[in-house]
Amino acid sequence: MKPSIISHKISFVISILFVFFTFLISGQTNNNKFFCKSEMKIINTIDKKYLLGQFNYKSEKNFVKVEAQYGNKEDMYLQKEVYEAFLKMRIAALKDGITLIIVSATRNFNEQKTIWEAKWTGNKLVNGENLSLTVKDPNERAKIILNYSSMPGTSRHHWGTDIDINSINKDYFSSEKGNKVYEWLMTNAATYGFCQPYNEKNNLRPNGYEEEKWHWSYISIANQYLSDYKKTITYKDITGFMGSETSITLDIIKNYILGINQNCIN
Ligand SMILES: [Zn+2]
Repeated sequence: MKPSIISHKISFVISILFVFFTFLISGQTNNNKFFCKSEMKIINTIDKKYLLGQFNYKSEKNFVKVEAQYGNKEDMYLQKEVYEAFLKMRIAALKDGITLIIVSATRNFNEQKTIWEAKWTGNKLVNGENLSLTVKDPNERAKIILNYSSMPGTSRHHWGTDIDINSINKDYFSSEKGNKVYEWLMTNAATYGFCQPYNEKNNLRPNGYEEEKWHWSYISIANQYLSDYKKTITYKDITGFMGSETSITLDIIKNYILGINQNCIN
């Protein structure tokens, strides 16, 4: 064989190997890129089970138990950062002669389902009525329950970011004592990262729950949950309880999940 033919063959083999390795390397790079992207997605988006409350908060490492002296019942849990912010707010309130007690913290899907279905079936009376007898239309019945109770899978209490303070009774906040507490929270809660998502209903907040002066939300974390809820949850995810089909007709995500005090979002 002539030397020129040999060198031609060698350069041909080198070219083939070059193309092969280039392909291999670029393939690996693409895989890495893809992996990185999906990894980022996992890090940046909160898992649906946390958005929907389908987990056991007692065994989550970023949740802590509310100490007995700061709550009115046993076994309440919050995300650690939320609890620490509450404790700081509580100390500041005490200096002004205001006592803040947590009366409700994290509730998971099953706990919310128990509350919802008790009202749905009439086991728990609503405004003195057994709704299963007095309100036959499912949408109308859901609307009445929704005045103060969330559908399972749609409660901000699932997130470990929201607390009810001192009382869930409207009359308490109409009293002189309750009004003083509310005035203090209105002035100071934002300093500690809390906001009232269910403020007075008006043209800025025409939809959603009635006013809840007791419900306060730790918004820096809650807003991440709200944003991911909006992105990832659909009506197919709001299921597994009596009357869940009404979530679509009542447009729960738009009217209730997103029907909050806009000052808490901005
Ligand atoms: Zn609440």
